[in-house]
Amino acid sequence: MKSSGKRDLYSPCPGMTAFAVVCSEHDDVGSLHHVRTVAQPAATAHRDEHRAALTSR
Ligand SMILES: [Zn+2]
Repeated sequence: MKSSGKRDLYSPCPGMTAFAVVCSEHDDVGSLHHVRTVAQPAATAHRDEHRAALTSR
């Protein structure tokens, strides 16, 4: 899981760079987040879902 902080070369505004939450098991998780501070909690929440799925077995 990593959210790229690289600037999109095709985006004229660096603030509009999309941060995708990507999971190795589920590929893209949710939608693109245009703010890193929004993408990070989303990634953390998804990881918690993984942990909950493991412990429920
Ligand atoms: Zn996942």
